[in-house]
Amino acid sequence: MHPQRWGDPASAVELPESARGLVDLAFGLQDRPATTGATPPPSVLDDDLLDGLRTIVGREHVLVDDATRALRTRGKSTPDLLRARAGDLSDAPDAVVRPDGHAEVEAVLAWADEHRVAVVPFGGGTCVTGGLAARRDGFAGLVSLDLVRMKRLLAVDDVSMTATLQPGLRGPEAEALLAAHGLTLGHYPQSFEHASIGGFAATRSSGQSSAGYGRFDAMVVGLTAATPTGSLDLGSAPANAAGPDLRQLVLGSEGAFGVITSVTVRARRLPEVKAYEGWRWPSFDAGADAMRTLAQAGLLPTVLRLSDESETAINLADPSSIGGADDPGCLMITGYEGAAAQVAARREAVTAALTGLGGTPLGTEPGEKWVQGRFHAPYLRDALLDHGVLVETLETATFWSDRERLYADVKAALTDVLGEGVLVLCHVSHVYETGCSLYFTVAARQGEDPIAQWQAAKAAASDAMIAAGATITHHHAVGTDHRPWLAEEVGEVGVRMLRAVKAELDPAGILNPGVLIP
Ligand SMILES: Cc1cc2nc3c(=O)[nH]c(=O)nc-3n(C[C@H](O)[C@H](O)[C@H](O)COP(=O)(O)OP(=O)(O)OC[C@H]3O[C@@H](n4cnc5c(N)ncnc54)[C@H](O)[C@@H]3O)c2cc1C
Repeated sequence: MHPQRWGDPASAVELPESARGLVDLAFGLQDRPATTGATPPPSVLDDDLLDGLRTIVGREHVLVDDATRALRTRGKSTPDLLRARAGDLSDAPDAVVRPDGHAEVEAVLAWADEHRVAVVPFGGGTCVTGGLAARRDGFAGLVSLDLVRMKRLLAVDDVSMTATLQPGLRGPEAEALLAAHGLTLGHYPQSFEHASIGGFAATRSSGQSSAGYGRFDAMVVGLTAATPTGSLDLGSAPANAAGPDLRQLVLGSEGAFGVITSVTVRARRLPEVKAYEGWRWPSFDAGADAMRTLAQAGLLPTVLRLSDESETAINLADPSSIGGADDPGCLMITGYEGAAAQVAARREAVTAALTGLGGTPLGTEPGEKWVQGRFHAPYLRDALLDHGVLVETLETATFWSDRERLYADVKAALTDVLGEGVLVLCHVSHVYETGCSLYFTVAARQGEDPIAQWQAAKAAASDAMIAAGATITHHHAVGTDHRPWLAEEVGEVGVRMLRAVKAELDPAGILNPGVLIP
């Protein structure tokens, strides 16, 4: 992936002609082209030092050229893209090292520990919370530990319905390997096409089909990880009472405790049938209440999401198509995947429940449209940045009883900082019996310093989340961006526990310095 843009360059889009007028009206079209020709600062790691790495992984897997280092610089948040677009590649690693297998990862960590070189595990590079921009002060240099060669399906147990995967597999690669065994993971975050299995585990990712398949951490039954002080091999049974669940300590550890070298996941049979449809709700509250009812009745479809009034109006080319030109209401997407009989029964039960709760069925067209476009929106962000629109997303979660307050407070915080012209869209992206996550998309006119502009808005929204008793992140993880709020979320004892684990596993602090741990 190019450091300045999202995804596959072949899929890049221009701002559609139909949207130019609207964007101009809302924000004023500007021309903000990305800087070209920028290069990272020279590597500070000399050949003598790098020879140690070459001995471990092979000469061709220690890369110091500018292009490779530029490609492993930061992640894909809007501030990451804005920095790269401004020609700032100052966070580029000094070298990119590509180990193959657990033993090589262990040896690289031992080398880094000995020479006090910081190590940033790199999966798909889609992080949006600064988790790839580790601190480098006090270190002899920084290497990106690229897991791209670790792409094997190591084992399939189709009696237990588990599969063991290496961390470097991207979403589609993992699904293709599993499909050959008639299996699927069902983990489809919007970053699916580029993010990796190791990244999903390290950030506790949640996919768009989480209502049916669950979050990624809920799929993991076992894992191996290499740390500077030894290796972990966890998950000898599907569940246990053998003390606190140490798997959960590694999941979400964002490369700060160790490098995840394999995960064993619960798999499902490939679905025979997939069906997606739309529903209209008179208001966001009515739709959210219906989601709660489904979740608490144990009646969840595989996909369940609900856009608020603003997101519904923006996302629909023709809002009148969902029931009245003046009032499109709120669009809900429901999706069903599984064996034909199961899908039919679940669909019938959900349809009866939603109809009884006041929803209007819109048929399969909105659902099909959503499923076809589900991975495309990030390409539009690049086109909007080109035209001077600041566009970024943030997410949180809370209990049902606090949903309305959280929604109102985060919206107010963003509007206070970014001004009346800001557009704040929201959808309920994941639901549980006890609560849900809220996912906000924000668009505003880019000012002189769009990074500072966003940082101020993000800080205000983060303060609002914590003040409302919600989480700082439901699925994007902590990285460096959310770190200042983590202490407030987990408390002083929680911080000491995190620091103690870090000190035990990584006493020299070489793993992702400055990421996660307050
Ligand atoms: C457009 C877009 C859409 C997104 N949509 C979603 C979404 O729907 N749901 C969601 O949950 N997230 C989403 N994300 C966030 C991101 O894709 C996830 O956090 C994803 O899990 C990161 O995976 P990755 O392989 O890209 O990890 P990376 O970005 O490479 O790394 C993320 C963090 O994990 C560490 N890490 C990576 N691999 C390992 C490993 N093997 N062992 C230890 N540490 C490791 C890294 O050092 C870093 O701190 C989105 C991001 C973008 C840009």
